[in-house]
Parts: sequence; C-alpha cells; structure tokens
Amino acid sequence: MSYVEEVYEGLVAKHPNEPEFLEAAKRVLESIEPAVTAHEEAYRKAALLERLVEPERIITFRVPWTDDNGVNHVNLGYRVQFNSAIGPYKGGLRFRGNVNQSILKFLGFEQIFKNSLTGLPIGGGKGGSDFDPKGRSDAEVMRFCQSFMTELVKYIGPDEDVPAGDIGVGGREIGYLYGQYKRITNRYEGVLTGKGLSYGGSLARTEATGYGLVYITNEVVKGAGKSLEGKTIVISGSGNVAQYAIQKAQQLGAKVVTCSDSNGYVYDPDGIKLDVVFDIKQGHRGRIREYVEKVPTAQYFEGQKPWGVKCDIALPCATQNEINGEDAKKLIANGCWCVCEGANMPSDEDAVNAYEEAREKSGFLYMPAKAANAGGVGVSALEMSQNSERLSWTFEEVDQKLQAMMVGIYEKVSKAAKEYGHEGDFVVGANIAGFEKVADAMMAQGLV
Ligand code: NDP
Repeated sequence: MSYVEEVYEGLVAKHPNEPEFLEAAKRVLESIEPAVTAHEEAYRKAALLERLVEPERIITFRVPWTDDNGVNHVNLGYRVQFNSAIGPYKGGLRFRGNVNQSILKFLGFEQIFKNSLTGLPIGGGKGGSDFDPKGRSDAEVMRFCQSFMTELVKYIGPDEDVPAGDIGVGGREIGYLYGQYKRITNRYEGVLTGKGLSYGGSLARTEATGYGLVYITNEVVKGAGKSLEGKTIVISGSGNVAQYAIQKAQQLGAKVVTCSDSNGYVYDPDGIKLDVVFDIKQGHRGRIREYVEKVPTAQYFEGQKPWGVKCDIALPCATQNEINGEDAKKLIANGCWCVCEGANMPSDEDAVNAYEEAREKSGFLYMPAKAANAGGVGVSALEMSQNSERLSWTFEEVDQKLQAMMVGIYEKVSKAAKEYGHEGDFVVGANIAGFEKVADAMMAQGLV
C-alpha cells in the first residue's frame, strides 16, 4: 500500500462520520501522489501527511442568543485552525443550517492549498455555525453575531487567525462581528476581512471571487486557443460569487443565461440582467423567482438546477456537490467544453470523473475550486496588507493585483501538471502546486 493510501485508510478509520472531509482528503491525497512519491522517505519519517490531514486544532462552542419574540436558542459555533505552516490561519465563516464539523474540515483542508496557490503568506482555516441568517431580522442576526464573537474573540487576531465571509456571512454579518470584536478587545485591527469600506475594508474585495473566477476562466480558455467573447455561460447561485462572476463575464463579452438560488433557477436567453439580480438579492434579500416578474421573457424552473441548459462554459457558484455525475454528463452532451468552479467543491466525484473522461477524449477544460476561486482569499490577504500599512489602495490597484494573481495561479497550476507528466490536468496541477510550498514549510519547521 502506498504512503498516500495508508494515510487515507487511517483517516477513514478515525473519522468515519465525516464524509465531506474524507472526500476532499481522498481527492487531494490521490492527486499529490506523484509529488509525495518523489520525497517519500523524508515525508514518511517526518509524518508529514499524517500531520497535513489533521487540523492543528478545532474549537467548538455554544452560541446562545434570543430571537425577537424573546425565545432563547442555542447554536453550535466552530473554528477549524487547520494549518499555519505558511502564515496565520485564513478562511471564511459559514452560517447555514447544515454546517457541521465535517463540512468545515473539508473547507479548511481545501483552504490550505488554495491559500498557498495565491503566493501570499496565509495558512488554512474555516469556521461557522449551524445558524441560518435567512428569514431572521437584522436585530436577530446582530445578537447572534455578537454572541458568536464573544467566544471566537479568544482564538483570533491579525497575526493569528483572520476569518472572512462565506455562505450566509456577508457585509452585514462581518460588520456586527467586527463591532463586537472591537468592543471586547478595544483594538482596531485587521482581524476580519470583507469589512465595509468605511472601517478598513478593501476596494474590490466584494467583487474579488467572482472577478477572479472569470479572470482565470479567461486564461484557461485562451490556453486552449479560444476566447470568452460571444460564449454562452451557465452560472448557478445568485450570491456574492455568482453576481460578480456574471458582471465580469458580461464585461468580457460572454453571455450569461442562468442564475439560481436554493429554490430554483432562472433562464434568460437574452442574457441575465444583473441590475435585476442586484435589486432582488442586494436590494431586499429576495428570491430569484422574482426575476421573471421583472423580465417576462425569462423562465423560472422551481426546484431545478441549470445544468441541462446548453452552454459553452459552466461556472458553478452556489455550493458543494451541486453537480453530480448525471449533471456533468448532461452538460458535456449539450456541448459544454469548460467548467471552472466558483463554489467550493461544487462537482462531486462522479462529475469530476466525467470531466476527466471528456478531457482525455476531447480536451475538456476543468479548473477546480481551489485555483479558480482563490481570488477571494487573495484579495482578503491584500486587505490584511492594507490594514497593516494603514493605507487604502485604489480599486484599479487591487483589481490589477487580482488579475496578476489569477494569471500567476493559472501558470503555476499548468506548470506543475506538466512537470509531473499530467499536462492539462489542472486538478493534479493545483493540488501539487499548492502542496509543495506547504510541505516545504512543514518540513523546515520540524515536528509541530
Ligand atoms: P452567498 O451566501 O452570497 O450565496 C450563495 C448562493 O448559493 C445563494 O444564491 C444560495 O441560495 C445558493 N445556495 C447555497 N446553498 C445552496 C444549496 N444547498 N443548493 C442550491 N443553492 C444553494 O455565498 P457566496 O456567493 O459567498 O458563496 C458561494 C460559494 O462560493 C460557496 O461554496 C463558498 O464557499 C464559495 N466561495 C465564496 C467566496 C467568497 O469570497 N464569498 C470565496 C471562495 C469560495 P439561497 O439564497 O437560496 O441560500
């Protein structure tokens, strides 16, 4: 049995009830095998992989809060501090009913390699709660955020662990969390990213994940001798990542024909009108079905995902495992030739296998999340730099750095894939390129 297989088997025995984490670990371990084999003896001796797959620490805590009717609730809060070999822990907070330790470990593990790919000094972490802000009043969300931060404050700091947003944690939640941090510590410092512009946020952070996704998609497409101009794109989700992916794709001349939320998807053959989406989602936190009231030529499909719509490129931007094997086959059969992931692990294992088959047969292009959506955390790290300098850069400055970062990630990923004999396999390329820097740092720092 290879070293990688041994470590994975040990993980399954130890954490049988963490399917999302096991899936993420399996996929990463399998694809870094060529890089591990090259240093197997040294890595084994240092128990490198055994350490890589266990978080440095996991903090769990209760979050008591009171709703508007005076009823008390208790949610669970978590922070997974996975790996600090190359910098302070960095990764978002997710507030959603289905959040559990397995999901946060999967996200924290992925974050290690993603953060490494950005080339910036940030380690991997993730956190959140099974609290769902959807349907809650601003006052309820504020009380929850204050209670959550009252505990989390003990474990974070600008040189220690710097959380950000994720699903269910946007500008409003970051504001309440930051307010409570400042109130308790009496310090005004860059402990959270995704902050508002009036209190230390970075221009272009809101746009960063979606824009970065389209910048790297542009590189992938150019690498295959094509262009985004005039291409039809299918997008899922209508949250932060989806909205700005739509905007940048349209600016680069593509036509985006779908977006969705957890209730269903909208198909607009003339191209999604982003002002309508902004109005629904940013204006009044509404549902995407309202789109067809404003644009009667569009259609709404309740309870469905958009993967049956004919397109050139698909950009999944909602959540994990939203594309299964059947969906992937449908996309490919309908002529889709490229998938770049805005959401984290949106394609399940069967879907990735289908892309892989299509890559070998006809050059299908697939850029996995840890490379494709790294622009968000990349600009978060730029927000940290600005906070340390006590300066604010212009939108153009940040946007240029983001573009350069995404081009750099594409180059690193392509190069690593080629070096290890897997040219064009961006999964292998992203995992190995991310892994090598972390492995070097862990080896240098000894058995910690
Ligand atoms: P938001 O909360 O802003 O939006 C999430 C969107 O996805 C909403 O439209 C939501 O619909 C939909 N969605 C969520 N869960 C499901 C589900 N189970 N089934 C169908 N649709 C669902 O989150 P973000 O846009 O910030 O995040 C989207 C994805 O991108 C996540 O995977 C996140 O981890 C990833 N990501 C985000 C980054 C960022 O900077 N924000 C950075 C890197 C990755 P509804 O309104 O109905 O809940």
